Amino acid sequence: AVSNQTTLYVRAMADYCPLQDPTIPCADAGLPFKKGEILQIVDQNDVLWWQAKKALDLNTCAGLIPSNHLLKRKQREFWWSQPFQPYTCLRSTIPGFRKSMRLCRRKSQNVQQSCYAQCPSICYSTVAAPYEEVVRYQRHPSDRNRLIVLVGPSGVGINELRRRLIQTNPRRFQSAVPHTTRAQKSYEVNGREYHYVSKETFENLVYTHRMLEYGEYKGNLYGTSVDAVQTVLDEGKVCIVDLEPQGIQVARTHELKPYIIFIKPPSMSRMRQSRENARIITDYYVNIRFKEEDLEEMEDSAKKMEAQFGQFFDQVVMNDSLQEACVQLLSAVCHAQDEPQWVPATWIC
Ligand code: 5GP
Repeated sequence: AVSNQTTLYVRAMADYCPLQDPTIPCADAGLPFKKGEILQIVDQNDVLWWQAKKALDLNTCAGLIPSNHLLKRKQREFWWSQPFQPYTCLRSTIPGFRKSMRLCRRKSQNVQQSCYAQCPSICYSTVAAPYEEVVRYQRHPSDRNRLIVLVGPSGVGINELRRRLIQTNPRRFQSAVPHTTRAQKSYEVNGREYHYVSKETFENLVYTHRMLEYGEYKGNLYGTSVDAVQTVLDEGKVCIVDLEPQGIQVARTHELKPYIIFIKPPSMSRMRQSRENARIITDYYVNIRFKEEDLEEMEDSAKKMEAQFGQFFDQVVMNDSLQEACVQLLSAVCHAQDEPQWVPATWIC
């Protein structure tokens, strides 16, 4: 169900600061915004400059923002001003795929933008749009649940959070059964631990965008397919998956309607207290002691993820205390299913 919406709302896909834009007709009249923010477009009669308000703060005055057309033009100008460098697509982790995946990218382009139309089938076919049209979506009780995607840096505790969340209500929450190319063990059941498939089948799923994520471990491929997620959703359950942020684009479809939760590490000083002395703080970190460089890497990785993919995060949960994070996560997951949310207009129309 979607509210009867005639006004145009968009999600900003990048930050904008009028004071740093020499091309704006009047910087004081500009509306600064952060990526991920929802804007109500009040006037789009001018080709270059629109007027907009913050959708969550409609009492504020409308301000000037660059139009879609102007921002795209700026992106193109920036693209062509960058020198070429050879680049191998980040998703080409399967050995045989590598040769076909070579392409050029320009320096300082982020991963999304660099995975350009030249890249055969696997990567995104367009440069990210500056604004994404959104609508308010209220899930009807008879609609399927939305997929819950957890993303965050390695070591932040996503696996444990997912395990605990499922434990709170295993009849409601479930993860998807992964695919693997490794041999089935005698005590395993096909479709329970894994779906056992040939390398050819697995690679086919990757090429046809049916894998949300995949990786290689000891020479075998492992991954989570769209179909495995749909099986859980079709059973009326809430499917919880954790993805590398590059997988967000594959998951963002009307069929899965993912709600993306970023699991964020706390400040370095909090992590030093909780992670380095993990043994006494929680039972989860029993066998893990994080070194200073692990914590730095986690913080760095979290910052990069937020910088590159923050516009797609529907919710951010900080994992400082595992127990509190779990409560917040549970509340976010219920909120995602039961409360109205902004979603891409293409998921509904
Ligand atoms: P095992 O073969 O012992 O069942 O799993 C070995 C490893 O495969 C796991 O520790 C994990 O690193 C990886 N793995 C299992 N399932 C998945 C999956 O769905 N996706 C990815 N990327 N790796 C997985």
